[in-house]
Amino acid sequence: MKLGDSVILITGGGSGLGAATARMVVEGGGKAVLVDVDEARGAALAGDLGPSARFVAADVTAEADGERAVAAAIGAFGALHGLCNCAGIAPGEKVLGRDGPHGLDSFARVISVNLIGTFNMIRLAAQAMARNAVNAEGERGVIINTASAAAFDGQIGQAAYAASKGGVAALTLPVAREMARHAIRVMTIAPGLFETPMLLGMAAEVQRALAASVPFPQRLGKPAEYAALVRHILENPMLNGEVIRLDGALRMAA
Ligand code: NAD
Repeated sequence: MKLGDSVILITGGGSGLGAATARMVVEGGGKAVLVDVDEARGAALAGDLGPSARFVAADVTAEADGERAVAAAIGAFGALHGLCNCAGIAPGEKVLGRDGPHGLDSFARVISVNLIGTFNMIRLAAQAMARNAVNAEGERGVIINTASAAAFDGQIGQAAYAASKGGVAALTLPVAREMARHAIRVMTIAPGLFETPMLLGMAAEVQRALAASVPFPQRLGKPAEYAALVRHILENPMLNGEVIRLDGALRMAA
């Protein structure tokens, strides 16, 4: 699809990879609908991006919030062509932590935001996209999810996070196959280590060690590099049903 003709809903749009994606969409001439639970950051970024952007305060895990977000995109810009699922949380917790075994509540919370939230937005966006007229490439919509290198290479403390992201990676192909008859493509990006608040909160020496663990280019990824891949996926109709690793060949030792 041509970015300039498109309305893209971005969950987690208030920060990090989602924020960079929202900026890329607006700078490319498209319309961006930022969805986030962080009202202050989401509203500030949408304001900064101008009239081609909107912010909707919504929790991706809630059905009603997701419906409201999709309706807001259509209400503001007339249709929904793309969904980029960037909302996510990554708390670390060991199975046998200092204070006892991993909490089931915290495990369920990670699965809820990262996996169920992604699925919630997929099904609601797909419903809206299926009603679109086809574009010049014969498409009605494009859905892009965000997994993680942890889906394939989870570290100690990442059981919940890795499981949630493995789920996102695994649903990509079956959903793409189902959506094909609706002319909707489904892709997933699995980022490695990116310079976002999720990582920048770590101690400087940890960040340096993480950067050094990336075979090439021996640094953390930049959110704009993630956004550039989103753009490429939106614009290339042959990309479908695939999980693309965006990690500089990162393979971490346990
Ligand atoms: P981030 O923390 O900067 O941004 C995530 C955003 O999601 C935040 O604005 C947060 O408020 C929002 N969010 C959290 N829960 C939400 C909910 N229930 N509903 C709506 N919004 C919610 O993180 P990021 O680094 O930009 O990560 C974006 C995505 O990329 C996440 O799914 C993350 O797991 C994934 N990822 C990031 C990295 C990395 O290195 N930064 C690596 C691999 C995967």
